[in-house]
Amino acid sequence: MTDQRPVCLSDLTLSRLTDYVKGMGQPAFRAKQIFKWVHQKLVTDFSAMTDQPKSLIQTLEQTCTLAAPTIRRRQQSKDGTVKYLLQLADGNCIETVLMRYHYGNTVCVSTQVGCAMGCRFCASTQAGRVRDLTPGEIASEIYTAQKDTGERVSHIVLMGIGEPLHNFDNVMDFLEIISCPEGLNIGMRNISLSTCGLVPKIDELAQRKLQLTLSVSLHAPDNTVRSSMMPVNDAYPLEKLIPACRRYQKTTGRRISFEYSMVRGVNDSPAMARKLADLIRGMGAHVNLIPINPVDGSPYSATDEENVRRFRQMLEDLGVNATVRRRLGADISAACGQLRREDAQQAAQQGNA
Ligand code: SAH
Repeated sequence: MTDQRPVCLSDLTLSRLTDYVKGMGQPAFRAKQIFKWVHQKLVTDFSAMTDQPKSLIQTLEQTCTLAAPTIRRRQQSKDGTVKYLLQLADGNCIETVLMRYHYGNTVCVSTQVGCAMGCRFCASTQAGRVRDLTPGEIASEIYTAQKDTGERVSHIVLMGIGEPLHNFDNVMDFLEIISCPEGLNIGMRNISLSTCGLVPKIDELAQRKLQLTLSVSLHAPDNTVRSSMMPVNDAYPLEKLIPACRRYQKTTGRRISFEYSMVRGVNDSPAMARKLADLIRGMGAHVNLIPINPVDGSPYSATDEENVRRFRQMLEDLGVNATVRRRLGADISAACGQLRREDAQQAAQQGNA
């Protein structure tokens, strides 16, 4: 039986698109042209591909689709940050954020609809994971932000909704598409991937030897505290995670950065700073500190900024590089995943009314 579902061409890497186009009896150069239309000129309509024969356009229209999310909500912060709620073809919504830094525009992409990891401080995971995003859907988040602002996107962080390493194959294809010279050609060194610490997948990623930056969401230097914040720590506790980070650095030659969201009275004491320094000293790793964004229904509150600064200074004194992450877009919506959740709650209320 043949699969009658339309193929989303946005999901195909250039080599897969080439196979697909050849399978249609077309020459390989058509694949390159179509790839450029989708991933460089960012069209979402086959009819806009003016160098393609009419008959091919007709066939593509009948058998294929292109990822074309719609902007359901758009919020712009005073600091220029733009936060989008994007609606996908099946009606699911995700969040995408564009941040303006002196070195260029960075887009923070979601990789799943919801998340299965269950971190207790995170809004994205409260209703669980609905589905994975496809490679083309992830890329289309960047394309939508670039087209909406009319400004080039130069950097990407995979730090939106979802656990990128829990959607490994699609994320790898996305990285190939987005760094392809026939596409937006965003260099791996301008891409950061953040994980809650899925150890086998960190090892698998290391084998790819990509030049991206791996961020590991550490948040606590001991298992009791980390497990209380992140259930994933029960499966991959620190004595597994930290050696995996060291292996990653050795295999790829790239330094890891650790995310550390500071929660009042939980992970922000001087004793925690010492434990953290003992855990990662000598790795040359970098720690990003950020006061936690309090989420409804979570017991956590943020460490005050003064204490964050003291914690940072202690780490530095103990030989660990640390910065306090600048918070952008604080006035438009706090923690990641909150816009999607708000929207779902409003829809539920309207449905009940
Ligand atoms: N699943 C991946 C990437 C998405 S979250 C991961 O866990 O790393 C991106 C970062 O935001 C992670 O470091 C995550 O722990 C952090 N984060 C999530 N909710 C937060 C909140 N309410 N306040 C501060 N940081 C948060």
